[in-house]
Amino acid sequence: MGLAAFQSPGRFFKGNIHTHSNRSDGALTPDFVCRAYAEKGYDFLCLSDHFLERYGYPVVDTEPFRGEGFTTILGAELHAPENSQKEPWHILACGLPGDFAPLGEGERGEDIARRAALAGAFVGIAHPQWSSLSIEDGRALAGIAHAVEIYNTGCDIETVRGDGTALLDALLNEGHRLTGYAADDAHFKIDDMFGGWMMVKAEANTPDALLDAMKRGHFYSSRGPEIEDIAIEGETLRVRSSPVSSACIVGRGSRAAFRGAAGMTEADLPLERFLGDWCRVMVVDAAGRQAWSNPIFP
Ligand SMILES: [Zn+2]
Ligand SMILES: [Zn+2]
Repeated sequence: MGLAAFQSPGRFFKGNIHTHSNRSDGALTPDFVCRAYAEKGYDFLCLSDHFLERYGYPVVDTEPFRGEGFTTILGAELHAPENSQKEPWHILACGLPGDFAPLGEGERGEDIARRAALAGAFVGIAHPQWSSLSIEDGRALAGIAHAVEIYNTGCDIETVRGDGTALLDALLNEGHRLTGYAADDAHFKIDDMFGGWMMVKAEANTPDALLDAMKRGHFYSSRGPEIEDIAIEGETLRVRSSPVSSACIVGRGSRAAFRGAAGMTEADLPLERFLGDWCRVMVVDAAGRQAWSNPIFP
């Protein structure tokens, strides 16, 4: 997962897989939202409008908005009863067929998540901290979803609950192998666009190639810094990046290691406390913006 993004062939494509248009509760048309991301230099976008009856269960056809160097993936944010807080689930499904069937009678969160995964989607547990999801909620989706949303720009701005790493780490501690992605969840009513994204390593900027890479965990996530490489030599993990202020590695319990220096582009981190288990690597730039590797199993 975490290392494969740097070992697999291809190049990195920048994308956001969680964002809304006026086909649900976003402010702007699908055309405008796609153009905004394309003009900002993104390689791909998944419009993920709320898959609710009151919006006509939209899987918005964004194919007309593809262009030179910019593609789109069809998707939606799925809802179904009911998480531990007695609220509807929010489940991100990136890569749905346009005719994905509406929520069925009696269908629960885990049911529609499974149906989305079987239909080919990359499935994510959306904004776990914003929803106050419990570990039981995580367990309910852990065998179905591919990933946990570890950063959500809109939730960060509006509730300072944008971080989802706690649920990912708790699930990793239980042996579940999920990845973690950053996304905007932009509605374009506030300044909630372009704040967190995925860098997906694929051989082509096509929906199929991107989805395949996402499901394999061939990506990292960022709010700013670029991770150029992560490699393991013996009991040392080396991370190379754009200039950052710090690099750290975290794992089970309080296991962690840290390196800090202004303008650092390379850091060696000791791996011995993570061998045979899991760890994640993060770098943070001078502006406090993070980049996150996927989990690594050294
Ligand atoms: Zn949501
Ligand atoms: Zn959303």
